[in-house]
Amino acid sequence: MNEKEWGLLEKEIINCKKCNLWKTRNNPVIGEGSKTAHVLFIGEAPGYWEDIKGRPFVGKAGKIFDELLESIGLRRDEVYIANVLKCRPPGNRNPSQEEVDACTPYLDRQIEMIHPRIIATLGNFALSYISKKFGLKQENIGCIHGKTFKIKTLFGDLIIIPLYHPAAAVYNPLLKNTLLEDISIMKKFLEQST
Ligand code: URA
Ligand code: SF4
Repeated sequence: MNEKEWGLLEKEIINCKKCNLWKTRNNPVIGEGSKTAHVLFIGEAPGYWEDIKGRPFVGKAGKIFDELLESIGLRRDEVYIANVLKCRPPGNRNPSQEEVDACTPYLDRQIEMIHPRIIATLGNFALSYISKKFGLKQENIGCIHGKTFKIKTLFGDLIIIPLYHPAAAVYNPLLKNTLLEDISIMKKFLEQST
């Protein structure tokens, strides 16, 4: 782990004005967890509570996320949790392509520094970004959730696991069951990577 590079990244995000979202955010959400984690979760963008607290997945979707983690025997401090956008889009609207383009160099640096063995994308925006980055076909989360993709990298195999966004399961118990089922696939890869 490179403390200096992380410090620099954090400072840059805190002072960032590369898209307009800095004007309306209360706090950027840089991400949190273990900087040497084997598993990186990528969400979409901070919501209401994340923007207030400056931490990822602390609202209603966060409760579901915590249940998912617990179901595979992981704690928050054993994984890293990041988002495609570091600042909240007003009213939780979808990220624009411009915002994604402006912000994802930060995510790229996080991925590079963490070197995860598993990336689990949460929802369509994270899936789309990671598919583009690693040359996977662009598909909708409804079609490929719970499948796994192996990417050969210079540092060994990287497993991509596309998952629904936990927010989609807040009022939909069926979808929560799907998420629990899909994330259970990760256990097999966790055993291989420890
Ligand atoms: N939704 C996200 O995509 N990310 C968060 O951090 C919280 C809610
Ligand atoms: Fe900068 Fe990203 Fe925030 Fe836009 S969303 S201001 S690019 S940190």
